[in-house]
Amino acid sequence: MTSRVMRDFDLLLPESVAEVLDLLATHKNKAAILAGGTDLLVALKFNYSVDNVISLALVPGLNGLSFDPVQGLTIGAKVTIADILKSKVVKEHYPALWQAAKVFATPQLRNTATVLGNILRASPAGDCSLALYACGGSLTLKSKRGSRQVNLDDFWISYGLTARRDDELAMALQVPAPVRGQKSAFRRMTRTKEDLSKINAAVSLQMEGDVCMSARVAMGCVGPTLLRLPKIEKMMKGSAVTDGLLQKISDQVAAEISPIDDKRSSAEYRNKVAGVLVKRVIALALNGKGNDQ
Ligand SMILES: Cc1cc2nc3c(=O)[nH]c(=O)nc-3n(C[C@H](O)[C@H](O)[C@H](O)COP(=O)(O)OP(=O)(O)OC[C@H]3O[C@@H](n4cnc5c(N)ncnc54)[C@H](O)[C@@H]3O)c2cc1C
Repeated sequence: MTSRVMRDFDLLLPESVAEVLDLLATHKNKAAILAGGTDLLVALKFNYSVDNVISLALVPGLNGLSFDPVQGLTIGAKVTIADILKSKVVKEHYPALWQAAKVFATPQLRNTATVLGNILRASPAGDCSLALYACGGSLTLKSKRGSRQVNLDDFWISYGLTARRDDELAMALQVPAPVRGQKSAFRRMTRTKEDLSKINAAVSLQMEGDVCMSARVAMGCVGPTLLRLPKIEKMMKGSAVTDGLLQKISDQVAAEISPIDDKRSSAEYRNKVAGVLVKRVIALALNGKGNDQ
């Protein structure tokens, strides 16, 4: 058994967004934002080190979770996984996100961990991040220099690396309003129920009857960062989703991913199950079948 000692750091407790931005401008890459802390505090016991930890605990105005039929869903920086699970609009309009929240870790973790923390951690296993990647969205990043929007498609650069600049606070994520016929779903496989995913998949499909007008298909734990599968998306676009198409998709998935061996699974296993998982997540989005996680 190993024991790890938390590194020394100064805990800073700003009481407004303006104060957070001042602190980020001063300390830049020598500071980290603390939201729920479920990733950051673990990292500080391992190979990550910063002199200053800027807590969001006392900062007001970041808890908003709201839905507008035109603007879509807005998720503030302090919205937790438990908030997502409690939300009827998320369950109705963004089932992939709700399903990811439902299987996320344990109740204690869900009460603490934030959705934006999941995105900012840039893990290739992030469950809510993956669901949101399928649904699409853009982050509002704010610094003393101003605000900018970054689409999730451009946000994750590599393992643990994002497009966020050192002096920026992620304020909120905006997820587009669902269009008519939109369906989404998320599924994951784990070693034990509470563990991180060893492989996960999410889809968002725009359907007209049996025909898929457009698709976003995303997978986790199969590359250095979350991946979209453009060839699968192309196969689906404009096609009727038949058993035959699902089988072709399933056979093609392994060619689009590059998993590695790690402590949760092997590359060989991930390659073998990836196609089946994608087939099942599409079935779940279309008819609710296979929602047995
Ligand atoms: C026991 C355990 C089980 C877990 N199970 C799961 C699981 O099932 N699924 C899963 O996906 N993850 C899981 N995780 C990982 C973790 O809980 C999630 O990634 C969580 O969503 C992180 O959110 P947080 O608020 O705790 O982030 P924090 O730890 O506070 O922050 C994470 C990173 O994001 C940065 N950050 C956070 N908020 C902002 C912001 N607003 N602006 C700029 N930077 C910011 C921080 O500086 C840090 O680098 C688990 C972790 C543990 C310890």
